[in-house]
Amino acid sequence: MEKLAIFGGTPVRETPIAYGKQCVEQDDIDAVVETLRSDFITCGPKVDALEEKLCEVTGARYAVVVSNGTAALHLAALAAGFGEGDEVIVSSVTFAASSNCVLYCGAKPVFADIRPDTYNIDPESIEKLITPRTKGIVAVDFTGQAVEHDAIREICKKHNLILIEDAAHAIGTKYKGRPVGSIADMTCFSFHPVKTVTSGEGGAITTNDEQLYHRLMRLRTHGITRNPEEMVHPTDALWYNEQVELGYNYRMTEFQAALLLSQLKKLPKFSARRKEIVEKYDKAFSEMPEIFVQREIPESDTTRHLYILRLNLDKLTCDRRQFFDALYAENTRPQVHYLPVYWHSYYEKLGYQKGICPNAEKYYEEVMSIPLYYSLTDADTDDVIRAVKKVVEYYRK
Ligand SMILES: *Cc1c(COP(=O)(O)O)cnc(C)c1O
Repeated sequence: MEKLAIFGGTPVRETPIAYGKQCVEQDDIDAVVETLRSDFITCGPKVDALEEKLCEVTGARYAVVVSNGTAALHLAALAAGFGEGDEVIVSSVTFAASSNCVLYCGAKPVFADIRPDTYNIDPESIEKLITPRTKGIVAVDFTGQAVEHDAIREICKKHNLILIEDAAHAIGTKYKGRPVGSIADMTCFSFHPVKTVTSGEGGAITTNDEQLYHRLMRLRTHGITRNPEEMVHPTDALWYNEQVELGYNYRMTEFQAALLLSQLKKLPKFSARRKEIVEKYDKAFSEMPEIFVQREIPESDTTRHLYILRLNLDKLTCDRRQFFDALYAENTRPQVHYLPVYWHSYYEKLGYQKGICPNAEKYYEEVMSIPLYYSLTDADTDDVIRAVKKVVEYYRK
């Protein structure tokens, strides 16, 4: 058996690979530079063109581009009307922003458990948490896999709930042939550099509902309107605009929009490469009884954002921490996605207790994300697989 690098052996590779990385090419850079030389550097023609492009990519009727994914979730939660006294059911395994947006509005997040094999929100768990105060659901397409829309739509219909889909991981994914972004009441995207396409910082909300669209547009710019029909004191004065509610400045710059427009042209190739890598990892790891491979539902045609390596701890002598550290020393640099949201100390202070989502908690103790991004070479993915094998063999029972 090979000596692990963490105990002084030679690492599988010399240079570290991170779990994620953006791909910015010369044409992306040119698009940004060209925009910086133009008349508009914020909220101009590039943002308009980007919104149009996002409608094309997602099949949604409307798109509202904002400064980041968290801003997208915040505005969606406000437009959904979440507020004091409302409960909103949220995925428990996700980035804190999915749930923080509910808190921003003064409503209460209620955490639903995940399925033990897909790691997505479990519709049966949602159903059990519904009370007369439940107003909506924030469902996350975890790792990029679409949530179980058919089951969730049934629940929403039955209990009159609004569905916000957090698709920060899922641009390019389809559910039963329909692109994510055209299915939920509102769908939120993030364009942070680690996601499949990036604008540096950036986000968007898509919707098919005209009223929600107008509300989101207004909330993006301070709650100010130029539409006389929305005003309390309408006038035909050309300079007049009116703040009719409390909004924010969540606008995106033109150069970010230019970058994202350029990136979106490459979504098909980014998506294809990610699928190729996932297939290769799945094949390698399904042969190892020490590793669980994430289950894909047949309805989801997934552009994967994260690859989750889940350990079968019954077959290993180590725990997740030891495995993580060993893999890290081999220069495959993993990350963990995610701590169950309510385990964060802030949520603990709000009164959430451990034990409410057993599948999520077990999941958290057994996982790490391994490198998955467009520019990983075949040699890189071979190294990742060799590193995982090396650690598995060392700790095999
Ligand atoms: C990245 C991410 C967000 C937040 O997006 P930002 O653009 O970083 O604000 C929200 N939810 C999930 C699931 C994410 O992965």
